[in-house]
Parts: sequence; structure tokens; C-alpha cells
Amino acid sequence: MSEVREALQAVRDRVARAARVVGRDPGEIQLLLAVKTLPAERVREAIAAGAHLLGHNRAQELTATAPDLADLPHEMHFIGRLQSNKAGKVVPLVSCVQSVDGLALAERLDRLAGREGRELEVFVQVNTSGEGTKAGVAPEDAVALAVAVAALPNLRLRGLMTIGARSDDVDVVRACYERLAMLRDEVGASGAPGTAGARELSMGMSGDLEVAVAAGATMVRVGTAVFGARPTG
Ligand SMILES: *Cc1c(COP(=O)(O)O)cnc(C)c1O
Repeated sequence: MSEVREALQAVRDRVARAARVVGRDPGEIQLLLAVKTLPAERVREAIAAGAHLLGHNRAQELTATAPDLADLPHEMHFIGRLQSNKAGKVVPLVSCVQSVDGLALAERLDRLAGREGRELEVFVQVNTSGEGTKAGVAPEDAVALAVAVAALPNLRLRGLMTIGARSDDVDVVRACYERLAMLRDEVGASGAPGTAGARELSMGMSGDLEVAVAAGATMVRVGTAVFGARPTG
């Protein structure tokens, strides 16, 4: 087996084990590979090894590398901070934007999707850790934003996304993920149009995916556990 294939299997095993520990069906949890900074051949190798769902977090890198993957079956999500003026380049290349953190961006995405005559999937990103460096809407504003996003005609709200606290204290990390699950429940309980199907939770990365799965993650986003450490800077 190739290195990537083995690492991918190891991550799948981690997800499955974490799910079984809490009595969940591992099949409910999708694996997204975060492919930032990787050369195209590593990404192609991952797709060949069975990866299907990929995520980029920089618009420029997404647009630069998309042609290298165009011949391979995959689904691309955008998972990073998205400036409104970059949205027009990103939307044609992705099925889903997971990092919607404000209504202005959502309205722009809605217009762009409408112009393409399609529906764009989105997650609302919530800053559950409160860390100033992290993107996302504040937890207290998350339900209102999700309700507003769900009402836009060309967007389909899938759920909520977060990046957990960068902490060695597992309780601090768990609190972030449990908070996101509670907010997801509040969005559903609102009964607002477009929110009934918005049940997904995109949370958990290489270092903490077990904690996220225990808290209800339906999608984990993994980079280093599959591809190794990224160059810093
Ligand atoms: C890079 C990235 C990940 C994956 O992080 P790892 O620690 O490498 O697994 C997940 N989510 C987002 C938004 C990312 O940018």
C-alpha cells in the first residue's frame, strides 16, 4: 500500500472506532481531506486511494490547482476565510462553501449561484472557541445567521462548521463541539424555512477527531494525519 493509502485507512479506522465507542454508525461520518499546500500529485494519489471529498481554504490555491484535478472524480468544498471579491472565482469550482460567516457573503454566494442557475451548499461557520484568530460568526449570532442563510433561494444550508479550540485540554475542545451541536439543534428547532434539513456538523481535525465524533460530527476535516505535517509559514 502507498503511504497515503495507509494513512487514509488509518484515519478511517480512527473515525470508525470513535463512532462505535459512542454507539454511532461510522457510515454517518464523512471524511474531507484538507489539501492546502499540497502538490497536485499528492492530492491525485489520495483520490486514487479512494478519497472523494476535498477541501481548500485559500481561494488562490484553489483556482491555481483546480486544472490539475479536473480529470479526476472528486467533490471540492471551500473551507477557509472567503472575501466577497474572491467568491466569483470560488463558486464555479466548489459544491459547497463551509465558511459562511456573515449575511453579506451569503447574499453574494446566493447571487453567484443563481447566476449559474444552480444551488450552492453551505455551512455557517461558528467561532466556538472565541479565539480572535479564528473565523466564524459569534455563537450568540449563529442561529439568526443560519436562519437568514437558509432562507436564500439558491443556497442550501447543510449545517454548521467550526474549528475547535487549539488546546491540549480535551474538555475545552469538547465544549466547542458540544456548543456547535446545541446550536445546530436550535437552528432546527426554529422551524424556519430551509432549516429542517440543516443537521450536519463539520468539526474535528487530525488531532481531535475522536472528540468531535463523540459530540456528533457528521464530517471531519483532516490534513496532517493523512499527508504529514505541512511546511510552516
Ligand atoms: C487545514 C484545515 C483542516 C485540517 O487540519 P489538520 O490539523 O491538518 O488535520 C481542517 N479544517 C480547516 C478549515 C483547515 O484549514
